[in-house]
Amino acid sequence: MKIICACGQLIHDGTDALPHKAHLIPDQAWHGLFDRLDEVIAHECQTIAQRESAKTLMRALIGGASRNAWQCGGCGRLYVHDGAGQLQCYVPADALTSRAALSGTVSWATSAGSAGYLHAP
Ligand SMILES: [Zn+2]
Repeated sequence: MKIICACGQLIHDGTDALPHKAHLIPDQAWHGLFDRLDEVIAHECQTIAQRESAKTLMRALIGGASRNAWQCGGCGRLYVHDGAGQLQCYVPADALTSRAALSGTVSWATSAGSAGYLHAP
């Protein structure tokens, strides 16, 4: 997908791990998604074959609950797919608004039950 920003800059979306793209999950779907993921782990991961299928299912559940968002690196406009799949544009408040609102990585802890830590750029 390519978005031509209102400022004229082209926003690319042709690969993974883009610093100007995010996947947003509405809060109204957040806990329902967790509940469904819990169900998959509890009931659909008994065998190796089920675990492989569950991986695909869990990714589909997360993908289905999320919406894409992109930020223009030039002007900072934020483009978000709304619940109807329409692309909505949000304009930064001023010139000091971050142009990297969607970037960052997570360092996942190695021990079970530990939370990941977000690293902003
Ligand atoms: Zn722009």
